[in-house]
Amino acid sequence: MDSQPHIVIVGGSLAGLTLALACASRGVPVHVVERAAERLNGGDSLSVSLAAIAATTGHDPRVYPKLAVVPAYRDRHLTTWPALYAWLRGRALETPGILLDEGKTVTSVNNREQGAELHFSDGTKLLADAVIGADGYYSVVRRAISPEAPYARYAGYLVWRGLVEEQTLTRPVAWPSDGGLWIDFERGYRLVAAVLPGRDGSLEIGRRLVTFAWFDAHREALLRATNRLTPDGNLVGTLGRGSIGSDVRAELLAMVPKVWPERWAEAVAVGVQSTASLSGAPIAEYVPDTLAVGAVALVGDAGHVVSPMTGSGFAAGVDDAMVLARILADRPAGEPASNALLRYQAARLPYVRALVQHSRRLSAEYVQIALK
Ligand SMILES: Cc1cc2nc3c(=O)[nH]c(=O)nc-3n(C[C@H](O)[C@H](O)[C@H](O)COP(=O)(O)OP(=O)(O)OC[C@H]3O[C@@H](n4cnc5c(N)ncnc54)[C@H](O)[C@@H]3O)c2cc1C
Repeated sequence: MDSQPHIVIVGGSLAGLTLALACASRGVPVHVVERAAERLNGGDSLSVSLAAIAATTGHDPRVYPKLAVVPAYRDRHLTTWPALYAWLRGRALETPGILLDEGKTVTSVNNREQGAELHFSDGTKLLADAVIGADGYYSVVRRAISPEAPYARYAGYLVWRGLVEEQTLTRPVAWPSDGGLWIDFERGYRLVAAVLPGRDGSLEIGRRLVTFAWFDAHREALLRATNRLTPDGNLVGTLGRGSIGSDVRAELLAMVPKVWPERWAEAVAVGVQSTASLSGAPIAEYVPDTLAVGAVALVGDAGHVVSPMTGSGFAAGVDDAMVLARILADRPAGEPASNALLRYQAARLPYVRALVQHSRRLSAEYVQIALK
């Protein structure tokens, strides 16, 4: 058995990296274990609060090295998922006190009399003072916390998403770089699109990225046939890039001119035809009864998955990170981690439960209208 590190974070994506930075910037060293051996590619566009990221991580995305963004609404900005992930990972790699251990898969976590034990797919084990699950909607760590309800539920719809280079289109998209989100509802489909900074951060017309999200409540059979959805409604997988059959892409392509307005139609058609661009994110929701048991706790989607209609999935993970890092940093010397994690749960559980309930109401309303 390896020596005992203090705090292990399972999952080195948006929530895990944010928590790692929040802890390290408050003097709490962490060890992040991430399943993916290479850089992740988890999504397309996200609305973010730059001020909240700065206050939480101790690194300001508004100063060099800046996070490329466009204004969205109120104090929120739009960025691309790859740009945010690269920014967080870059800051984590240069921040003392963060050990980023990629290419390591956790198979189970168990509370012990003191601390918690992690088991890895390579047969090794690790004893930690505390284990924080930031391992997403299909969390392994959640199984140690809520063994009676370990899986997130399907919300009744998926979101087809794509990120398209504007320069691959016959003409630029007629949407200003500070135009925020375009949202519409057509034939039961909720449609969202925006332009984002190009991969080099450019906002120059013709060099930007075009993102779309196409909400679709008619795909339960596809999700069941591809084993993403269990017979009792638990979500256990997504339709990642490269996994969507040509028959489904052809069906979507035929629908583009009927559903999307001309402004976005070409970009959506290009995205739908590209196996490397199109992904399908079945929307999951999880109402937690608990966020911490013993020396194990959850943050981000592992703790409380919500619909993108709330615009708050990542934002809630940032708030988790801020609260948990402060509690860990202020922990009296010698106090068991489990006491600190109970304070984290007391601070966050009422809010995140209310957020997921709100998400469920939005989802139910959408599905009712979409299936009419
Ligand atoms: C269409 C869509 C639009 C969205 N828009 C917004 C928005 O505008 N604003 C917003 O705030 N939120 C938005 N969200 C939500 C946001 O994307 C998520 O809340 C956020 O990405 C979740 O990050 P996470 O780190 O908690 O989980 P994940 O991104 O799922 O990361 C989990 C990580 O854990 C790793 N992992 C999993 N299992 C293991 C294991 N056993 N061992 C080791 N590592 C493991 C994975 O490889 C992964 O890196 C949107 C979501 C969707 C689907």
